[in-house]
Amino acid sequence: MDDSQIKAQIGLIGGTGFYDFFEGRGEELEIETKFGRPSDKITIGEIAGKKVAFLPRHGKKHQIPPHKIPYRANIYALKELGVSRIIAPSAVGSLKQELMPGDFVICDQFVDRTKFRQDSFFDGPEVAHIEMANPYCFEARTIALEKAKELGIKAHPKGTVVVIEGPKFSTLAESLWFSKMGWDLVNMTQYPEVVLSSELGICYLNISLITDYDVGIYSSRKIEPVSIEQVLANFRQNTEKLKRYVSSIIENMPQQRSCDCLKKAERAII
Ligand SMILES: [Zn+2]
Repeated sequence: MDDSQIKAQIGLIGGTGFYDFFEGRGEELEIETKFGRPSDKITIGEIAGKKVAFLPRHGKKHQIPPHKIPYRANIYALKELGVSRIIAPSAVGSLKQELMPGDFVICDQFVDRTKFRQDSFFDGPEVAHIEMANPYCFEARTIALEKAKELGIKAHPKGTVVVIEGPKFSTLAESLWFSKMGWDLVNMTQYPEVVLSSELGICYLNISLITDYDVGIYSSRKIEPVSIEQVLANFRQNTEKLKRYVSSIIENMPQQRSCDCLKKAERAII
């Protein structure tokens, strides 16, 4: 794809509570891909001279549950627009006491506990085995952490997220197991987004926003469960902070990538 065909360089996938980014400005596109329609229309806008494609993961009205999100169509649509980096915020539960509601975590690992998702673009005859040792783009994570420091945002530099199928939450036994394994967060959407992006050579950065403690941690440590009103208030407040944070990350992304995300995708194809 040459530069004139690129409609957006950066993709932004909004999670729960994050349904709009350009506040009515921007050009809305309805896209159909060979993997179906994405979750909603994609809005193209500009941040600091960079073209950004915004897509709400659950749809603008939060009408698509985590296990029904058209993950392949979403990532493919962004690829077709020319996107080479994806920033993907998501709401998560905490599995550790020190990871507190309101904190951000820049994830570096995942554990896949999903069951029924289409998680590859390569179903044959073309075959690819993508490396997954370090799924999240190191360069993008570094920029995100630098910006958090500058802005005084509490962002933990790494974290392992367990991605469950949903839409149900974990049982007490599952949640305690995840915590005992030393894993940090629980979520329903990061997988397979990160893998699909990797297969297409797109850098993927996750910004996890902790909304509450998962069931195992508050029952075992005698922490009071957060009320739903508190979660929602926390959420609204943090969504505004998250938007400012995302804008400053975009502003600071260099034009050229110096990571190996593209090479990894090229190596994967047999
Ligand atoms: Zn990268």
